[in-house]
Amino acid sequence: MLSINRERFKENFSALANIGVMREGGINRPTFSNGHFKAREWFKQKTIDAGFKFKVDNAGNHIARFNCPSSTSPVLIIGSHLDSVPNGGKYDGALGVVAALEVLQTVKDSGVILPYHLEAIDFTDEEGTLVGLLGSSAVAGKLSEMEIANPRGNQDVLVDGYTKLGLSPSTILTSKRAPESIAGYIELHIEQGKILYEENIQVGIVTKIVGINSCSVTFLGRADHAGTTKMEDRLDASQGASSFGLTLFNRIKNNYPACVVNIGKMVFHPGAFNIVPEKVVVSVEFRAPESRQLDEIKFDLITVAKESAKAYNLKVEINFLGKHPPVIMDPRVRSTIKRVADSLGLKSREMPSGAGHDSQSFARICPSGMIFIPSKGGISHSPKEFSYWKDCVNGANVLLNTVLQGADYVQLY
Ligand SMILES: [Zn+2]
Repeated sequence: MLSINRERFKENFSALANIGVMREGGINRPTFSNGHFKAREWFKQKTIDAGFKFKVDNAGNHIARFNCPSSTSPVLIIGSHLDSVPNGGKYDGALGVVAALEVLQTVKDSGVILPYHLEAIDFTDEEGTLVGLLGSSAVAGKLSEMEIANPRGNQDVLVDGYTKLGLSPSTILTSKRAPESIAGYIELHIEQGKILYEENIQVGIVTKIVGINSCSVTFLGRADHAGTTKMEDRLDASQGASSFGLTLFNRIKNNYPACVVNIGKMVFHPGAFNIVPEKVVVSVEFRAPESRQLDEIKFDLITVAKESAKAYNLKVEINFLGKHPPVIMDPRVRSTIKRVADSLGLKSREMPSGAGHDSQSFARICPSGMIFIPSKGGISHSPKEFSYWKDCVNGANVLLNTVLQGADYVQLY
């Protein structure tokens, strides 16, 4: 079986891991931050140096392309993302992008002729600084005007970022590709949980990815003097928001054992020690393995928000900010990954993913698969995120050979 070039892979990974690095070792590359732009510039330069075609599409995705002889063939896409959460780790996303580029280089060096083109893509805004899975869902034709106009993140950052790239938010949707032009999608990623690490298994084969919904819930009351207003006279938005959060947590814990909810941010207005808050904006995200559960949780969330507002004589507004449905990874891709892992002498197991990934966008339009490697202690979205280098190399070799055996699963029209 063909192998990637370990030294080149390591050198590229290390170079990238130095971009956007914080003093304590964390990686800070939120979408369209300086670190993110620098990482993408690095990818562009590497692509050009390696002799591949380089392109930025209208969603800002950075694309390295290696053509096969037949111009009418579809493309097998491999990739991940170079953006990070604030102060995150150096493996999340970056591993998949560097491995994708390494696969292109190995295939080119080997002289193997494939019946499909290959693209290694660094997708824009996977982590959700702005929308989440922005670049991949745009290519898959699953992004809406609404999500661009009403991002869960900062709209100014979105507009400024696209402007800096010489692009416009108004043309993001034109990056959609015809489904028949895409043969398949494969992504290598760290697990970000501890199943593989604890079971001492080198390769995870993703079966499905949970669905994710996010919304902002705003409680509205009245600002008052915090010293002179009696407790019973207050229209205190913080009381409604607090009651909402705790009731919702308990509801999910008790009624939806396979689902999770997170309140990642609460913003108090005007936000001072001595003023009763007139407004609190709560950022909520919830995840579920089944679409039906996402709908049920949405209904429960609305009920809890209204009840919490009513209990404290407040008004409440709920703004749903995008939804990524749960998806199943293609069974043919899964069995190819399994066969490749077996041939390489690697232990593998199937597993669901509780984290969202760009493969979620593609699984809706073409045969898609995901390869996980162990995360030490299951830690991720943290400077402590770590994977052993031998596992990274194993993952890249599984990716390479899964790409080479695309004839087993790709759609060729
Ligand atoms: Zn990721």
